Amino acid sequence: MPTANSLPKSFLQLLRPRLPQMLDTLRELVNHESPSTEKVPTDRCCHFLADLWLHRKTLVNVVSQRHRGDHLRIVWPGTKPRPKSQLLVLGHYDTVYPSGALVKMPFHLKVGKAFGPGVFDMKAGIVQALFALDALHQSRLPVNKSIIFLWTSDEEIGSESSRKLIEAEARRSDAVFVLEPALGPRGLLKTSRKGVGEARLIVQGRASHAGLAPELGINAVHELASQIAKIEKWNDPRRGVSINADIISGGSRANVIADLAQATLDLRAWKLFDMRALEKRLHSLKPVHRGAKLELRGGFDRPPLERKRSSALFACAKSLATQMGFSLGEAAAGGGSDGNFTAALGIPTLDGLGAVGDGAHSSHEHILTKHLPQRAALLAALLATS
Ligand SMILES: [Zn+2]
Repeated sequence: MPTANSLPKSFLQLLRPRLPQMLDTLRELVNHESPSTEKVPTDRCCHFLADLWLHRKTLVNVVSQRHRGDHLRIVWPGTKPRPKSQLLVLGHYDTVYPSGALVKMPFHLKVGKAFGPGVFDMKAGIVQALFALDALHQSRLPVNKSIIFLWTSDEEIGSESSRKLIEAEARRSDAVFVLEPALGPRGLLKTSRKGVGEARLIVQGRASHAGLAPELGINAVHELASQIAKIEKWNDPRRGVSINADIISGGSRANVIADLAQATLDLRAWKLFDMRALEKRLHSLKPVHRGAKLELRGGFDRPPLERKRSSALFACAKSLATQMGFSLGEAAAGGGSDGNFTAALGIPTLDGLGAVGDGAHSSHEHILTKHLPQRAALLAALLATS
């Protein structure tokens, strides 16, 4: 049995020779397409994944969904008969690519990179977790916590069907490890993420002939323009608060005063405090034009992942990486993940533990294959020591 000091290195030694098998598994997983919005192929991918885990002495529970792909909850009870508590390994197996994307971008290996739809975001992360578990088995280390692996099917479209499951599992966990892609070629972990939301501002005015009776109209487009001018001033780059009207629409014809206009607003903030303040401001908007009515729908759907929830876990990960002979950095990400949900519950959360690569959601999406064993070893070491 490895000593505490040699433990991360021993995982690396177990995993390095397994790179070819990791790539074979990754190829098969990528070849099971799993678009978030198509249940049939996504379920097929889910069942392929379920089989992989069933072969590894785990309890596999397929959480059936009506409209989305099924979620997968896997339990490894650890090595002690009565585990004290649990750790959560979290990720999603859905991708942003529609069925048939493989025709244009087939899985392939080229000069140390693996390409394919969803390979980086985040199928390679799932493969790393699978092999991390293998390494835990092989090392025969005593692990007195059970480990839950949760692979969901709708992260790329907002996690509507999985959020409750993720939160319930996180509440029971001592820590959450998120296998989303790392940032940049140095594989930085994501120790903070912005809270993200979408709101719709709808303005109701009154239609009238623009030439014959303009005084009877209430121009919804003018009202919306005034509101947007006001909202724009709320942007605070220093605090990382942003609000952007990304889509607007309104009016019906050139000679009719617009009776309806609306804007879709992208909302982002680093801090929970700023998120709440921004929502409050939005809800307290008052019409500028007499008679106009404002309605606000939506708001933040992912709270921020604040660094204080990641810092202790990151320090552990950094020290384990040093013992394995590589340096590990951290970064802040402007986009959200399911880690935002778990961190907002106050559960220590470390994100960006997945693959090193580039081009998420694009035709050149790829990972750097040499990092696979290293990242899997890092996860195994974190699970063994947390
Ligand atoms: Zn992702």
